[in-house]
Amino acid sequence: MNIGAHVSIQGGVTHAFDEIREIGGTCGQIFTHSPRTWRFPELDDEEAARFKEIYRKKEIWPILIHESYLTNLATPKEDIYKKSMETMEKEIAAAKALGIEYIKIHPGSHLGQGEDKGLLQIATSLNNLEPDMEEVIILLETTAGKGTDLGYTFQQLQHLRDLINCETGICLDTCHVFAAGYDITTREGLDRTMNQVDSTVGISNLRAVQLNDSKYPFNSRKDEHAHIGLGEIGEEGFRVFVNHPAIRDLPLILETPVDATRGHRQNLETVRSLVTS
Ligand SMILES: [Zn+2]
Repeated sequence: MNIGAHVSIQGGVTHAFDEIREIGGTCGQIFTHSPRTWRFPELDDEEAARFKEIYRKKEIWPILIHESYLTNLATPKEDIYKKSMETMEKEIAAAKALGIEYIKIHPGSHLGQGEDKGLLQIATSLNNLEPDMEEVIILLETTAGKGTDLGYTFQQLQHLRDLINCETGICLDTCHVFAAGYDITTREGLDRTMNQVDSTVGISNLRAVQLNDSKYPFNSRKDEHAHIGLGEIGEEGFRVFVNHPAIRDLPLILETPVDATRGHRQNLETVRSLVTS
């Protein structure tokens, strides 16, 4: 089982490896800069080279870049759109400097201009970034579908993939798909969901899983993560999920809270304890 968590790069980007090892993980995810500001400090060249050197050994692999929370490629607001595209360019440059293959993005929120227009704008944006994108693969994350967020159905994600020229994959977030109304908590429900995945985006295009329990119930369209087994998906739900043949070999990356109840290590151990063979 390849499992890890979203970790901090405070103190330098290679710190990510230390934290992943500390929690007993073998894969992970980072922000390249503070995700709640537009400020994007340059990566230290030496530190980036050191990261690349360690990363290419693949002892810890993959590490995803999680795009900034502020980026919205589907926004009708011109200033935000411009900043979003600039940020994406910087994310791509950072991925190349670090030797990271995957940049994971939430597709975007159309903010009232309509789903079709929003989806087309996202695809056009990524197509405009494509010339810089060699060696970098965009992972489209499944969303919970709150507000005007796009990417909450697999059909929608495949529609995007059809419009995008560069290589894309899918990152399945357990909290989000559950909140978006896909059953993943029973073997029957999960089989049905995986059939829907296969007939749209294709199982082979699932590249990573974001492993989070959900604070809110099934089909609530709300996005708040809970500790593994302590939310609405529950321990039995995760036992079914992580043992499914379409899932068990994928990188599983926790984005669960770090608080007085548990940190990443405890959630990671919980997941390991649910694996049946
Ligand atoms: Zn989420």
